[in-house]
Amino acid sequence: MFNKKYIRGIAAAIGTVVIAASCLFINTAKADTQPADAGTASTEIRTVQELVEAAKNPEGNYKLMADLDMSGVEWTPWDFSGTFEGNGHSILNLSVKTVSKQTMKTYDGNRKEYDTYGAGFFGVLKNARVSNLNMYGERVEITSTDHCFAAPIAGLADNSDISGCTIKDAYISLTDSAKMWGTGGIVGFGSGNLDNVTTQVTLVCIDTDKQVKDEQFMGGAYAAGFLNIRGCSITIDGYDSDHGYVHNGGLVGMYMVYPLELSKTYAGEVLNNKVKGMITFYEDNTDRRAYCQANMGEVMNWTYAYSGFTSDFKRNETYDYTATLKPEMCANPVYTDTVTEASQDAFGFTTHTCSSCGYTYSDSYRIHEHKVNGYTVVKEPTGTGISDGIESGTCSLCSQTVYRNFAANAVEEEQTGESTADSVKTEKKAGFNTAVGIFIAVVAAIVVIIFIMIAVMVQNNKRRRHRRRR
Ligand SMILES: [Zn+2]
Ligand SMILES: [Zn+2]
Repeated sequence: MFNKKYIRGIAAAIGTVVIAASCLFINTAKADTQPADAGTASTEIRTVQELVEAAKNPEGNYKLMADLDMSGVEWTPWDFSGTFEGNGHSILNLSVKTVSKQTMKTYDGNRKEYDTYGAGFFGVLKNARVSNLNMYGERVEITSTDHCFAAPIAGLADNSDISGCTIKDAYISLTDSAKMWGTGGIVGFGSGNLDNVTTQVTLVCIDTDKQVKDEQFMGGAYAAGFLNIRGCSITIDGYDSDHGYVHNGGLVGMYMVYPLELSKTYAGEVLNNKVKGMITFYEDNTDRRAYCQANMGEVMNWTYAYSGFTSDFKRNETYDYTATLKPEMCANPVYTDTVTEASQDAFGFTTHTCSSCGYTYSDSYRIHEHKVNGYTVVKEPTGTGISDGIESGTCSLCSQTVYRNFAANAVEEEQTGESTADSVKTEKKAGFNTAVGIFIAVVAAIVVIIFIMIAVMVQNNKRRRHRRRR
């Protein structure tokens, strides 16, 4: 005869295990089907490959988990309307040679509208937030016939916030024959907020046609628009060759609130900013404006609170319109390279110095060689031969978490050459298989537990019968 206590015990145990198994199954399945950008949780970016994948999504919440060296990656400016938390990490050697896929409306001083492209880490930011992201040795080099703005963080920013970022040794060059264009030290054109951003940037604008009288802009924080600027530190070295109307500023090329309706009520803030540097420019135009100031080249709306501005700025206007103005002053620079090795506290870089004119710049930033004693897998590879598995370890020198990619083993490497869409599908399938596997394992465990309990009960009953007999 079965004891009621045992039956209740078994029922409770089975119930618990089944509930646990169901929860596990549902959770695993849910995590698998949920889009990466759903909810407020951030998607972690740990490798260059993950950053490149992330930049295919127009929205989402992302968090950078490591310093990434983008050398050798052809970056397309990311049109984005989510949040990007740099988490104090750095992107090294980003190279941008194409403009955004999307355009944004920009406005000149006469409030004429232009469909404009953006170039930078981001192309067009819309209602986005970018924070605590550092950019080292970024180069944005654009040649265009379209309206375009170029800058290290974002070419164009619509109602977007950028805070706590550091930009070092950025080189932003825009060669353009369009009418509406320019370069900025953080953002190109737009609206939103810039808070506590430090930038050290070389800006170059080259106008390639004399026919069009350009609306051309350059600013150490941004070229044009009405972003608020608070606690920013700007170091600018600007070069601007133009045959139209120049609007240059150590801080802002042209401050203008748009659209017109908003400009009647909008109150901005330009507080506690520092500018250091020089803009060398010419304005080859008989109808001259030649705006160039330490703070703002031209101000269309004096509707902002303004205080705490300090500057050490030189307006350097030239009048020889035959030679394009560039940071290197000689026609054929001869560079001597000095390599500064990376340490556990600082990135390494290479400094190039021209022996003829003395122009010097740094690039090729490098992360020190991490020393990791053991890696653990944090993301299984999809098994398509692509190194998309990720493992992590701790560097014994800098104690940072280090991530690296790895591929599935050789047996599964036959399927190389699959398209990205296919590999995404495979990844999802693999995730689902994992969930099913876990479920089967748990069910098997339940069966084993039941089996053991029945065995124990049978044994106990036998013993009891024995005792009774005695
Ligand atoms: Zn030189
Ligand atoms: Zn390290």
